Amino acid sequence: MTAYEAVIGLEVHAQLLTSSKLFCPCPTSFGAPPNTHVCPVCLGLPGALPVLNRRAVELATRAALALRLTVHPTSIFARKNYFYPDLPKGYQISQFDRPLATEGSLAFELEGGEVRSVGIQRIHMEEDAGKNIHGQGGDSIVDLNRAGTPLVEIVSAPELRSGAEAAAYLKTLRDLLLFLGVNDGNLEEGSFRCDANVSIRPRGAQRLGTRCEIKNVNSFRFVQKAIEFEILRQEQVLASGGTILQETRGWNERDGRTFSLRSKEEAEDYRYFPDPDLPPLRLEPAAIEAAAASLPELPEPKRERYHRSLGLTPYAAGVLTAHPRTAAFFEEALALFQGDANKVANFLLSEVLAGASFRGIDATFPVSPAQLAGLLRLVEDGAISGKQAKEVYAALQHTDASPAQIVRDKGMEVLRDEASIEALCRRILDANQRQVDAYRAGKTALLGFFVGAVMKETKGSASPALVNAILTRLLTA
Ligand code: ADP
Ligand code: MG
Ligand code: ZN
Repeated sequence: MTAYEAVIGLEVHAQLLTSSKLFCPCPTSFGAPPNTHVCPVCLGLPGALPVLNRRAVELATRAALALRLTVHPTSIFARKNYFYPDLPKGYQISQFDRPLATEGSLAFELEGGEVRSVGIQRIHMEEDAGKNIHGQGGDSIVDLNRAGTPLVEIVSAPELRSGAEAAAYLKTLRDLLLFLGVNDGNLEEGSFRCDANVSIRPRGAQRLGTRCEIKNVNSFRFVQKAIEFEILRQEQVLASGGTILQETRGWNERDGRTFSLRSKEEAEDYRYFPDPDLPPLRLEPAAIEAAAASLPELPEPKRERYHRSLGLTPYAAGVLTAHPRTAAFFEEALALFQGDANKVANFLLSEVLAGASFRGIDATFPVSPAQLAGLLRLVEDGAISGKQAKEVYAALQHTDASPAQIVRDKGMEVLRDEASIEALCRRILDANQRQVDAYRAGKTALLGFFVGAVMKETKGSASPALVNAILTRLLTA
């Protein structure tokens, strides 16, 4: 343990899952050819007027309520003025001294199971900037497709203590936003981005140390590594008698180091003022209450419910609530199956999830919830064995066939006709008179031998329970 304690605060920018931009009807979809999703508003042409996207306000409000912030009946859009090629208006519309919501918290679990809670200072709405794309030959282009995309900025209190804590907080926040349908959680495409503020102070000190802000690290693992490196760097600076300069730093993954981008000594002056083109955003208290009442079930209570009320193991409950689409798949299959939740969970965990793929908020599964429910129902009703279920499942994947259809096509139906099973059992016993005598003399373990012979004869299609019962009856007669 060193003489210093690390203090970390995170600023997360999360893109709101709207189909159009914050102040114009341009689409927000990712990956279009540069400068095709633009209009006079997001290009900042003179005379174009912004109109606030209602859906963006709903999503931001939902995020704020789920994080237990107070949502304010009045908030104000301001202009943050600076010059940069990716900012066509010369200012960014953001909320400044009157943000949408303030003072909340987020609880999250560390690797060892310890639960921590960290304050959220504020959530405000703002528009994204465009993107500068730097070419090989030293030329650069500006792509304004992203300009005007709606974001929420979620600002944590300076209460995180390590890179691992920061990563755990971020993962929990990302999952929460996914479950809320607020953000697609796609770090690679930049729709969930994080700036990490890091400082250190002597253990026990009250005053915060001078911080460095590490910009835009795009994976949980890199955030953790960047923070860990930065803490060590600052400790070395202080240990060698130096002072920490307030600066903005980048993360170089190849070297595993942070590096200085620019000093913050000369305080930036953004000349904030309320945007005269946008009236104050007013939310009726009744609308805020209605939004709070309509929040979906969040990952943590969902996991608890799967464990406590449905009787799943904590492990299964954890896996099934790791992604909203997995939880939705499980719940839909369970509702259709109308049976033991553990049977649905087990088949999902052992078979279906192995073939599932996830990309941000999207997921694809090899079968539908209805197909899984139908398959489990066939097993439950004794129409097929558990072993046969695996075979049917293999044939079901990526088709829209029904499990019953596949069972029929494969001629798999379980043989449950008592008369024909009994006839077969008699044949097997007659053919194995020596073993029958041994059984009757007390070697009852031979039952398995007879069952095996019958099952082999029926290529595994007979109901094992029925075969067992009939053989026992014949042998003890
Ligand atoms: P900005 O970075 O835009 O100037 P703030 O000053 O409000 O905004 O700080 C933003 C983030 O920096 C918050 O997450 C806050 O917790 C964190 N922070 C502020 N001071 C420190 C500090 N001394 N050490 C670490 N984090 C800090
Ligand atoms: Mg900052
Ligand atoms: Zn536009």
